[in-house]
Amino acid sequence: MDETHDCPICRAKVPHSERYPKQVCSECSGRICDADGREISFMTWSFAGGLVGTYCETGARYTESFCYVDGTKCRAEEDRFGRGIIVEAVE
Ligand SMILES: [Zn+2]
Repeated sequence: MDETHDCPICRAKVPHSERYPKQVCSECSGRICDADGREISFMTWSFAGGLVGTYCETGARYTESFCYVDGTKCRAEEDRFGRGIIVEAVE
């Protein structure tokens, strides 16, 4: 299980998962933004399940599951084992 793939954003090595072949590295997933470049973060809502996105600056709700890292469109989803948030590049 020590396969890796290159982060689609910065080419760092990322632990590879069959299910999330385009997952970005933890550093890139830590600086996700909306389409206007405002920093956002996702967390899981443990009771209801699913993702909750918020703007880091204002705490306002961010309702999309799409996000951007350095201008590359990505999608956030909940890890199916409940271990956190997966951010994957979208083609
Ligand atoms: Zn990266």
